[in-house]
Amino acid sequence: MLDGDDDLARRANDGAPLSTPGRYTCHLDPRKIDPDAAKVVRRLVRHGYEAYLVGGGVRDLLLGRTPKDFDVCTSARPEDVQRLFRNSRIIGRRFRLAHVIFSGGKVIETATFRRSPTPEEKSDDDLLIRRDNFFGRADEDANRRDFTINALFYDLEAPQVIDWCGGVADLQRRSVRTIGDPLVRFMEDPVRILRAIKFSARLDLGIAPSVYNAMVQCRGALAMAARPRLFEELLRLLREGAAQVSFWLAWETGTLDVLLPELSSYLYDRDPEDDSFWSILREVDEQTAERGEAFDDIVLLTCLLFEPMLEACSGAADAPAAAVNFLEPIVERLSVPRRVADAIRRIVAQLPRMHAGRTGRFAQTSLYTMARDVMGLLGQSQSKLDTYLQTTPKKRRRKKKAQRGDSAS
Ligand code: ATP
Ligand code: MG
Repeated sequence: MLDGDDDLARRANDGAPLSTPGRYTCHLDPRKIDPDAAKVVRRLVRHGYEAYLVGGGVRDLLLGRTPKDFDVCTSARPEDVQRLFRNSRIIGRRFRLAHVIFSGGKVIETATFRRSPTPEEKSDDDLLIRRDNFFGRADEDANRRDFTINALFYDLEAPQVIDWCGGVADLQRRSVRTIGDPLVRFMEDPVRILRAIKFSARLDLGIAPSVYNAMVQCRGALAMAARPRLFEELLRLLREGAAQVSFWLAWETGTLDVLLPELSSYLYDRDPEDDSFWSILREVDEQTAERGEAFDDIVLLTCLLFEPMLEACSGAADAPAAAVNFLEPIVERLSVPRRVADAIRRIVAQLPRMHAGRTGRFAQTSLYTMARDVMGLLGQSQSKLDTYLQTTPKKRRRKKKAQRGDSAS
């Protein structure tokens, strides 16, 4: 598929930026390139700007996959893009860019080349990047990206893939590698740890050993990241058909200890023979592939939390209160919207009744369809509901008796 600077492709990348880019003559399948993204690139070029397709779209095409979406990067400033496209708006503060909007609400993200801020330009002396609006050249833009495989530019006119960071070599050796020192790159933005997990799991790529070690070493920094971003990346791990491998990697690297200690300690404590938690995620992946679209986020999160939550409730005298206590720290840590947390709690509360064939008025509520989806994903884990049903009524009876005794005395 790639034709050209083979020597460069074979050269081991030590993470240092390349002074001259690798250029690979390459005809990516035009049927898989979004015509609207191509239109944005071509109009920018016609008006004298540099413009390329970039990021996941280029990476996925080179891997022979159908990309989810295409991003554009350009020398044009957001205001210039807005001038050229009436159907566009400027968004973002931490990262200002233009959205060009096409029919059906399709958005082509069009970002101006950026460079990494110098140490003097950073607002604090730690490594964390809080603002990312320093415009720069194309090569600087490639080098401030997260992974080499995400820093490939596609020049539609040439047509050539431009590679400043050794991304082609890493795609060939199927490896996720940060651009530059992984410890620095993960401390700058710890969310990249979750992104490494996502790309490795979804694209079936290995993680370079130095990158893997840095993920383990930097995982604690995730606690400093913006909580809505953590929540969003966690959902992406569940949505994209590779939840089982993603959460396995998150557990193995200790990332899960930081994000969801409730789940990781449940996994440490459970019977090693008991595979049912992983079988739920396997089912999520299989059914996502069959449907061709992701389940609702509420369904996915309920599946993820079902087993540890049921365990937290089954030992408790007051199960609804135990469910609230279980979810509260998660809501705080990950900025889970209240509406989502309430829905998870209500679905888990109904599952034992549904399992026993009693749905009652719940069947008329908007949550019922989601609860049915969850039921269909639990597979062998449904046996946990039998255990719950066998133990809980007795406890409740005991509690009621105790209450009657209290009021009698
Ligand atoms: P996906 O297929 O999931 O959309 P993607 O690689 O396109 O994967 P996006 O989140 O859409 O990921 O981001 C687009 C591009 O922006 C990435 O390919 C990468 O070059 C860059 N990028 C995104 N997040 C970061 C980050 N945290 N740090 C540096 N670069 C990033
Ligand atoms: Mg993308």
